[in-house]
Formats: sequence, structure tokens, C-alpha cells
Amino acid sequence: MRIVLWGFGAMGRGVAKNIVQSSFMKLVGVIDKNPAYVGKDVGEILGVGNYGVKVRESKDIIEETNPDLVVIATSSFVKDVLPQIEYCVKNHANVITIAEEMAYPFESHKSESEYLDSLAKRYGVTILGTGVNPGFVLDTLIIALTGVCSRVDKIVARRINDLSPFGKTVMETQGVGTTVEQFEEGLKKGTIVGHIGFPQSIMMIAKALGWKVDKIEEQRKPIVSKVYRETEVVKVQPGMVAGCDHSAKAYVGDKVVIELYHPQQIHPHLEEVDTGDYIEIYGNININLAIKPEIPGGKATIAIATNMIPIVITAEPGLKCMADLPVPRSILSELK
Ligand code: NAD
Repeated sequence: MRIVLWGFGAMGRGVAKNIVQSSFMKLVGVIDKNPAYVGKDVGEILGVGNYGVKVRESKDIIEETNPDLVVIATSSFVKDVLPQIEYCVKNHANVITIAEEMAYPFESHKSESEYLDSLAKRYGVTILGTGVNPGFVLDTLIIALTGVCSRVDKIVARRINDLSPFGKTVMETQGVGTTVEQFEEGLKKGTIVGHIGFPQSIMMIAKALGWKVDKIEEQRKPIVSKVYRETEVVKVQPGMVAGCDHSAKAYVGDKVVIELYHPQQIHPHLEEVDTGDYIEIYGNININLAIKPEIPGGKATIAIATNMIPIVITAEPGLKCMADLPVPRSILSELK
């Protein structure tokens, strides 16, 4: 399988390494605008020796190399990745993107989704949005668990994670290192957003279960630290914000049917907060799943974006979500 990567950041480099090291995929091109990478050999940057493919700024590489699939890891938003997806599809390439809004864009971006679906069908290729979350923990995994329930009445899930490994952009969008006043101001201005993906996860679950969600309410609160915390990119004094406690509730009528909680902060253990992924399903049977500590976000996103490659290449054409495709599985685990 011939693959191009668009976006050679933390996630893109991880996917690239998986492809380079696999026996059945070839990385035929990498696109990134970062001047620190442009013109350099991909293998040298990844620390695996010369690979013979250089990072380029121009998207023309897709037309030149005619890949089976392009992995897009450039942005979180439909408005940014739509022209990139469009270019790939018009060059007959399947697409996987980890843009959070693309995990289930059918409700939040209706006209864009209809356009991408018809374009993909016209060109005979498949487009998929995936990732750890949205894309797996608070949607696909929940949907899979409902497969053993004859009836589901309510879903409550929590992803409690550690933000410490992430870079400056994530700290800024989560409000880490701000005062409470700056946090509130950032929420109003839209510079602090918390988690991107609650509406997408909720609507994916609702679609799978045949529920008609009438309303989604989201709440973002500052996690105010009692102790000093620091990472390589941010320092948090006691009384300052260590993260964003973001949650969402979905209603059918006036009944809450889905509750998702995703408090994200740096060094949660400093205040005895255990990280983990927790899913509770209530229905004719009750399911209570706890994954401790949480599935690591970066490594899991890199893995699922890689693991979905053969599934997307062989899928029916169109714009798909994780719930439309076969169960994800590890494709790189050859036993010797
Ligand atoms: P990053 O900032 O490390 O990397 C992004 C890369 O894309 C950079 O190297 C940048 O130069 C490049 N880029 C951006 N726009 C470009 C353009 N127009 N042309 C060429 N190159 C361009 O970010 P990351 O950690 O690798 O994550 C990538 C995106 O995926 C982010 O938006 C992140 O929020 C999202 N993400 C989603 C999930 C999920 O679970 N769905 C998980 C992790 C990351």
C-alpha cells in the first residue's frame, strides 16, 4: 500500500514511522509546511536512517505519486482539512484524517459532509475521520459495548487523562497556566475551547443506537490547582488553572441519555487524581468498564490512524465514520 502523509507533526511522524517500519506499506511522500522539515529526508528526521523520500511543502506530490491513501494530520477543524481532503479525493486517493471534527461531521457540518460523501463516491474512494478521542474511547468503544445489550437506556463515560506530554498549542486551548479570570475570558473569546469532539462522539453513538438527540449541553470549568505544577512548556502556581474540566450531556426530550466527562489537566497525580477511561452503560444489563490508567492519547491516535489504513482502502466509497467500518484491529503485530 502506497501512502502519503500530510502533516508531519507529533502524530504524523508517529504514523510515518509505523508505515516506514511495516513490511506491506510504503511511504511515497510527506507534505509539511514547517521549514525545519522541508527538503530533509523523512527517515533521517524519524531517526531510522535514509529512506529516500524528502518532506515537501507542495501538495503536488499526491498527483505525482498516485498513492492508495493519504493520512491527513494537520488540523482539528473541517474548514482546514476540507480543501486537503478534496484535493486527495480528486486525485483518486482514499483519506484518513485525525481532525477531531471529521470523526462524525454529518450533523455539525451537514453540507460539507454531503459534498465530501458525493465527491468520494464519484471518485470511488473512502474518507474516514478517526483518532483516540473522538474516534475511539468515547464513541467507537462505547458503541461496541452496546452490542451485548438488548436495550440501552443511558450511557455515562469519563476520560480522565494527563495533559503533561503535550505541547504549547494544547496548553493554550485548554487554558493551562492561566488565572481563573483569564480562563473565563478565553472561553468567551473562543481561544480556550477544552476538548474538541463531544458533539461528534455523541452523534456517532446516537446514530448507531437509532436515538434522536434533541439537545447537547456542554460545560467547561477551570481545574484550579492547589499545588505547584510544571511541564516543559508551562508553569502553574497554586490558585492558577491546571486544565479544563469539560463535559457534555445529550438529551432526548428532557431526559439525559448520554453524559460524557473529559477533565484534562497536567500532572493530575499531584492532587491524587487517578487517570483512566470509564464507561457505564445502563439497560437490560449494566456494564461497567474501567481502563486504568487511561489509553495514552498520542500513541493510540498514531496506532488507530495506521490500523485503519487497509480497512479504509478496501471499504465502500463515501464519507464514513468509525461505526460504519469493521472493528479496528492492530495490523502491525506480526508474531515471529
Ligand atoms: P502538530 O501541531 O504537532 O502537527 C501538525 C503538523 O501539520 C505540523 O507539522 C504543521 O506544520 C503541519 N501543517 C499544518 N497545516 C499544514 C498545511 N496546510 N500544509 C502542510 N502542513 C501543515 O499536531 P499533532 O499533535 O500532530 O496533531 C495534528 C492534529 O490532529 C491536531 O489538530 C490535533 O488536535 C489532532 N489530533 C486528533 C486526535 C483525535 O483523537 N482525533 C488525537 C491527536 C491529535
